[in-house]
Amino acid sequence: MSDTTQTLQHFIGGRWVPAEPASRSENPSDLTDIVAEVPDGGASDVDDAVRSARLAFPAWSQATPEARSDLLDRIGDLILQRRQELGRLLSREEGKTLPEGIGETVRAGRIFKYFAGEALRRHGQALDSVRSGVDVHTRREAVGVCGLITPWNFPIAIPAWKAAPALAFGNTVVLKPAPQTPTMAAALADIVQEAGAPAGVFNLVFGGAAAGAALCGHQEVDALSFTGSQAVGAQVALAAHRRQARVQLEMGGKNALVVLDDADLDRSVQLALDGAYFATGQRCTASSRLIVTAGVHNAFVDRLAERLRALRVGHALSEDTQMGPAVSHEQMQRALRYVEIAREEGGRVVCGGEALSLDTAGHFLSPALIAGTRNTMRINREEVFGPVASVIQVADYDEALAVANDGEFGLSAGIATSSLKHAAHFERHVKAGMVMVNLPTAGVDYHVPFGGTRKSSYGPREQGFAAVEFYTQTKTVYTQG
Ligand code: NAD
Repeated sequence: MSDTTQTLQHFIGGRWVPAEPASRSENPSDLTDIVAEVPDGGASDVDDAVRSARLAFPAWSQATPEARSDLLDRIGDLILQRRQELGRLLSREEGKTLPEGIGETVRAGRIFKYFAGEALRRHGQALDSVRSGVDVHTRREAVGVCGLITPWNFPIAIPAWKAAPALAFGNTVVLKPAPQTPTMAAALADIVQEAGAPAGVFNLVFGGAAAGAALCGHQEVDALSFTGSQAVGAQVALAAHRRQARVQLEMGGKNALVVLDDADLDRSVQLALDGAYFATGQRCTASSRLIVTAGVHNAFVDRLAERLRALRVGHALSEDTQMGPAVSHEQMQRALRYVEIAREEGGRVVCGGEALSLDTAGHFLSPALIAGTRNTMRINREEVFGPVASVIQVADYDEALAVANDGEFGLSAGIATSSLKHAAHFERHVKAGMVMVNLPTAGVDYHVPFGGTRKSSYGPREQGFAAVEFYTQTKTVYTQG
């Protein structure tokens, strides 16, 4: 496949709307490769998209569950059929390795197929009334126009896990993807159109903060689903509350992986490698804090450093690459800056944390491991969002749990142990929305709820059977025969 530069357009009311390119998305593995030229949507583009979604809503919300299911099933099939091409495009633009890019694409296809099933399921309830001769039942009805604002790190899976349930339950959508990775959203719009979605059911506006803010402030948007940073999420929540729109936020993490003395060492090291560094550490569920008990600490650090030094960093599309570049210059600089911050705070950089010059000019850096840190340091409190993990040595399980729970985020948490007692206690007492026992903190199923506690998440859970909560509203019906 030739690496052409795409010229992207907004997709509004069932057609592509020409707009002047305002920025470019580049291949972070090779900065000479321009992936796309992208328009920068503003309030009027958002307004057009929201109006189209509003116009399409009555018919779509009244369409039969089977019609909605069929559309989602076709979208899922088309994504899966194009997995190689889309996965490659994803890796070219975001920088995750080709298997990771294809894997994410497959996940997006599976999500649509899962929600094709959900569209057919009855989510209301029939109850006995407290009054004789009266029947009571609840209906789950579509909310209306949903504004979806997404980040760059899962450029097809996150739009999929928001758009699929929205459409399944009869809502119409306006998607505003991240400016760094626009092509997957364009590919999704193309597939939605090919699958036969009625005009206006799915709309796409490119742009950055201005387009996002316009969507958040638009009076005709009934629900806002946002994934991104905590700082922007707080603004989205404020805008939504100002006009009493529904809002759901998925934000950052500072996820702990606890490694106990009784865990299998090789397995623990593999969990840390996988959770903290795969996808270049650019996952909200990445294990950025490695909390290790004293008996195994030194061996763990040595073994992990050995594996990291051997990790092949390179062009995302090269077959032997194990870790691709950071998505952007800013993201790479951020990771390098945090390594410096950790050093200044007294942390010991065991390996990595340096910019790499490879065959192509890209945002390459070596995976960093920082030992000798304390949980009060900035490196352990602020989200880095790169291939950087720090180690905190603790005396025992009790201290490990206390450290894991000390912080403002609560997305995912993991424990490596052979002790059923500690695993069971951790599951109950760790403050996180997702708990992994002898599994990496990152990497989740698509058919179960996803989300965190504290400042990681706000509002109803996303994904799987939980998605019905956000994308429908309940009507209670009383009938006397
Ligand atoms: P970001 O917050 O900078 O941007 C997210 C989206 O919000 C983008 O589409 C952006 O254009 C838009 N935006 C920016 N300013 C806005 C404003 N004022 N109003 C409305 N929209 C606005 O995040 P990012 O850098 O794209 O992504 C990285 C972040 O996403 C990390 O913090 C990561 O933890 C988080 N993330 C969370 C999850 C999760 O499910 N918890 C998943 C993936 C990523």
